[in-house]
Amino acid sequence: MSLELSKKAMGVKPSSTLAITAKAKKMKAEGRDIVGFGAGEPDFATPENICLAAKKAIDNGCTKYTPAAGTVELRQAISNKFKSFNRLDYSVDQIVVSNGGKHSLTNIFEALLNPGDEVIIPSPFWLSYPEMVKLCAGVPVFVECPASQDYKITASQLERAVTDKTKALVLNSPNNPTGMIYTREELQAIADVAVKKDIYVIADEMYEYLVYDGNEFVSIASLNDEIYKRTITCSGLSKSYSMTGWRIGYAGAPREIAKLMSSIQSHQASNPNSIAQVAAIEALSGPQEAPEVMRKEFDSRRKYMYERLSAMPYISAIKPQGAFYVFIDFSKVFDKEYKGERIENISKVAQILIDDYLTAVIPCSDFGTPGNIRLSYAISMEDIKKGLDRIEDFLNTLK
Ligand code: GLU
Repeated sequence: MSLELSKKAMGVKPSSTLAITAKAKKMKAEGRDIVGFGAGEPDFATPENICLAAKKAIDNGCTKYTPAAGTVELRQAISNKFKSFNRLDYSVDQIVVSNGGKHSLTNIFEALLNPGDEVIIPSPFWLSYPEMVKLCAGVPVFVECPASQDYKITASQLERAVTDKTKALVLNSPNNPTGMIYTREELQAIADVAVKKDIYVIADEMYEYLVYDGNEFVSIASLNDEIYKRTITCSGLSKSYSMTGWRIGYAGAPREIAKLMSSIQSHQASNPNSIAQVAAIEALSGPQEAPEVMRKEFDSRRKYMYERLSAMPYISAIKPQGAFYVFIDFSKVFDKEYKGERIENISKVAQILIDDYLTAVIPCSDFGTPGNIRLSYAISMEDIKKGLDRIEDFLNTLK
């Protein structure tokens, strides 16, 4: 018997967003004046009413196993939110609560994919999708979506990418890393292709509350019955309620898919954290002022960042419409010199920024776009100003 480890596991890259964020946090803990534009993690404290609900949950003994798919009370709160916010009818038995959005997504891929099944991923993409697909024995198929089409997949591109092995499309709107939002018309055209070609749509709507400039957020599954039957809608509380550490994500799906996801989860995790589930009920059903206050603050940061970045040399960005990222094209920097050496690639830019300018950024090679950098504006305005000054200083030294 060989001691060789799993090829599937060895084919997976560690998450660079988490690695860069961990490095920045470590440097900060060592007393370095680091600015972390890394992971999309809101800088706000979790709202007090949510924390209080969790404390009460402990006092009330909500510290035991719950149903694998989450408590009925939480799934009911999610069902209500799906109805009022997303205009979607998912009953309690169509909802599975998991340990964060990533866990919901892996459950979805596990429930859908057979070995060799293809999953279409519009590129740029959030770095974890392809790794999750590979872990579930699927094959990621990338479709290049250039800046000229706001980094969004078109219906005709989708149609061309579908093969007899295609199982699903991953659709992320508002998008990480680009901040773009699909319009109702674009979604309708994509939905028509998905129905015609009979493929699933995995709608990752994690940033659904973070929409700016009066843009409309639309859940693709709400467009008609046919697309609803083929869509799994996924979201979570991390970004909207500043609850990244609590690990609560959820999905609404056709009944048979939800049943499979719940059964997979029952073996892999038993259930999501019981205390966090009580907190999540309070988040979704309690006062909704806090998420709106955070959204407005993100909006002012977004405007400031976009304005400052637009005035800097060599780089270009399109104005984000949602989420909390600015996606910046740095490719013009590649033929420049820094300290007498040519800058070869985006990792070098990120390395110079963290080592020489104490500024952590996400190089987007793992997001399918090796010419770009992603900056998160889920950090304080003070840090944003400081970090942008440093990036500007760096750009001004280039020859
Ligand atoms: N989703 C966030 C990001 O893209 C958190 C880190 C991660 O999960 O990748 O930064």
